[in-house]
Amino acid sequence: MATRVWDYLPEYEKEREDILAAVETVFESGRLVLGDSVRGFEESFAAYHGSPHCVTVDNGTNAVKLALQALGVGRGDEVITVSNTAAPTVVAIDAIGAVPKFVDVREEDYLMDTRQVADAITPRTKALLPVHLYGQCADMAPLTELAREHGLAVLEDCAQAHGARHHGRMAGTIGDAGAFSFYPTKVLGAYGDGGAVLTGDQEVAERLRRLRYYGMAERYYVVEAPGHNARLDEVQAEILRRKLGRLDDYIARRRAVADRYTEGLAGLTGPGGLVLPEVNDGNEHVYYLYVVRHPKRDEIIEQLKAYDIWLNISYPWPVHTMTGFAHLGYRPGSLPVTERLAGRIFSLPMYPSLPPDRQDKVIAALHEVIGRL
Ligand SMILES: *Cc1c(COP(=O)(O)O)cnc(C)c1O
Repeated sequence: MATRVWDYLPEYEKEREDILAAVETVFESGRLVLGDSVRGFEESFAAYHGSPHCVTVDNGTNAVKLALQALGVGRGDEVITVSNTAAPTVVAIDAIGAVPKFVDVREEDYLMDTRQVADAITPRTKALLPVHLYGQCADMAPLTELAREHGLAVLEDCAQAHGARHHGRMAGTIGDAGAFSFYPTKVLGAYGDGGAVLTGDQEVAERLRRLRYYGMAERYYVVEAPGHNARLDEVQAEILRRKLGRLDDYIARRRAVADRYTEGLAGLTGPGGLVLPEVNDGNEHVYYLYVVRHPKRDEIIEQLKAYDIWLNISYPWPVHTMTGFAHLGYRPGSLPVTERLAGRIFSLPMYPSLPPDRQDKVIAALHEVIGRL
């Protein structure tokens, strides 16, 4: 039986009745768009975070896009972010005509090197967009400090960090807004696409509600442009509302999987060996991904296929080196840490219902493969 990085079917087997009941609830409600399930999920998601406002949208990319727009970022404005992220972070910035400005990441934790941010600020900078990659938060204190000094907005990309904490505060509640994705693989995943924005600012929340609804303040009358149709589907909202009650349990089980890897793979670490994830001081990691690195990454991935283990790389190409972003003008070599890491990282299977015996096979196979290199 093939072992893959992610599989939702074991979870679906456990939750089947609840998920199917969600579909029925919506279909019988008499309201298929922006109804009780969207409203109910928004209230619960905000309450879970202790955040004043949650506005759902149709996916995480639009969560970033509309949040930037609601925070006043537009054409020609610069947004400081990282290239070591899922491409949609940058796609969203680019899509509203804003200009992504990249800083490098730290070797230890793959997160924004906040020491580089001050030098990247120009008179055109409007926002800072840290990404809480793989499930732990970027260093927020230096960013909120710089933002205050220079009058910038801070948007957290929380697509991989549902339920993560940073010095006791929840991801998505530290900056001016937090953008979430509920793509099926995420820590809180829908059975399709979904997204949301948290914010403490009522005006930003109201702007988001208009932006996701063609720019209309009330029916048929547009007050804000460019608007979008970016509503979260009622069925996905109802599924998410039900799954939210189990989020802490998903996270606990992800942490158990991570602990088992960390223990089982400790013998492979050391100079020139496998590098395991590091959790920063003050961070509570939710392990969206369990990312390790090794100089002979490609050989390891290739050889594991003989064990029917199929690993993934998140992400194989730094965003600034992609041809679709050639117009940003970055050259290979401009972000050395990001580029070096991209050649070494790989992700081990990680999902809440990954059976321990499956996991042990991955651990044993890694010992064999790396032992032979
Ligand atoms: C998944 C992801 C997104 C985009 O979310 P979608 O729902 O797929 O549009 C944005 N940023 C990061 C860091 C992600 O991992």
